[in-house]
Amino acid sequence: MSPIATDCCADPKQKLLSVEQGRDRILQAVHSVTATEQLHLSAALGRILAKPVVSTVDVPSFTNSAMDGYAVRSQDCTDTRQADLSVVGASFAGAPFAGTVAGGQCIRIMTGAVIPDGADTVIMQENVRRDADRVTFITKDVAAGQHVRYAGEDTRCGDTVLGAGIKLGAAETGLLASVGVSEVSVTRRLRVAFFSTGDELASIGTTLAAGQIYDSNRYALHAMLAKPAIKCYDLGIIPDQRAAVREAFQQAAEIADLILTSGGVSVGEADYVTETLGELGEINFWRMAMKPGKPLAFGQLGNAVFFGLPGNPVSVMVTFYQFVLHAIRKMTGETLHDPLLVQARCAVDLKKSPGRMEFQRGILKMEKDGSLLVSTTGMQGSHLLTSMSRANCFIHLPAESTGAQAGDLVSVQPFPDLE
Ligand code: AMP
Ligand code: MG
Repeated sequence: MSPIATDCCADPKQKLLSVEQGRDRILQAVHSVTATEQLHLSAALGRILAKPVVSTVDVPSFTNSAMDGYAVRSQDCTDTRQADLSVVGASFAGAPFAGTVAGGQCIRIMTGAVIPDGADTVIMQENVRRDADRVTFITKDVAAGQHVRYAGEDTRCGDTVLGAGIKLGAAETGLLASVGVSEVSVTRRLRVAFFSTGDELASIGTTLAAGQIYDSNRYALHAMLAKPAIKCYDLGIIPDQRAAVREAFQQAAEIADLILTSGGVSVGEADYVTETLGELGEINFWRMAMKPGKPLAFGQLGNAVFFGLPGNPVSVMVTFYQFVLHAIRKMTGETLHDPLLVQARCAVDLKKSPGRMEFQRGILKMEKDGSLLVSTTGMQGSHLLTSMSRANCFIHLPAESTGAQAGDLVSVQPFPDLE
């Protein structure tokens, strides 16, 4: 990592770094935690698999019926209008039929019940006329093997069901349970310490003095970090004093893998973050070619990775989603994926000057014809948190773009992709 003097946002002549360049540099510099822990499946939601899971069973483990009806031999049903079969038993889920179905016979069967020997096809009960222990068929079309679920068609014994790096969501949890896995190896939780800097900041629950504002960044950061794979350390508000900033950094570096701060990375007179980081760690100060979120500090403080996010609340959220989230994914061992962008038609004109990539806040909706339409949340100042709360997506406007006109297609990043 290059030292502060060669890479400082205080130098206005320094070339702006593109969002992609910034993300690449960050991803190259951070590493996955190596420690793992063994958890019961029920405690592993949201955690990242450290090892692949290989199935020791077939799923389904036996060939079974997909319908309530009658299990038959397909050769008896080539002409269903003529077929007249005798019902010789029943197979219920969990209570299989012990015998074999012979020619001219069938058995009553329920969804999930074992297909008995001799039978190979299921006719749903709605297509059957039953009279005591005999059935005839209302339906003409019977395909051999219909409504049968075969052993191993979901997962085979020996298959890798989930690879390392997968985040365990609801589907993955169900899948692992379906192959009988009770314990999984996951990466240990990432320790993230964060604090706000600024003499103007007051805590919620107190009355504002003249010139004070409520510290919102710490709460937004905490909300974005509140995930099972992360352990948060909220270090509060640090005043703009050299000694206090220094002490907070040292404390954070002792407990955390990742340190996030907001504020104090511009070049104002009270911005001690920049100065202190230069003394304590190896930090780059980047001028990002993006809006919002131009100043960004990134580097190493002791063993911890450090992000000094801008102070403005929208800049904090944008830089978190565009940079920090990717670093967290890599650090927790999660497989990385490119942001999911969709194309949507602009409902309004979007103003922009060329030079920096913009992440405008948008409201994406689907039209009656299924097409996607995006409108703006209105004023886009980086201090306007309402622009984030009203939005459900970022509209990506590339650096060279001069804006968009109503009807133009634009790239949109929906917020669910950011979770
Ligand atoms: P700074 O980079 O410290 O000069 O901060 C830039 C802007 O963000 C200023 O208007 C600050 O008052 C504001 N700001 C900084 N930290 C916070 C915070 N934790 N919550 C809300 N606004 C903040
Ligand atoms: Mg400040």
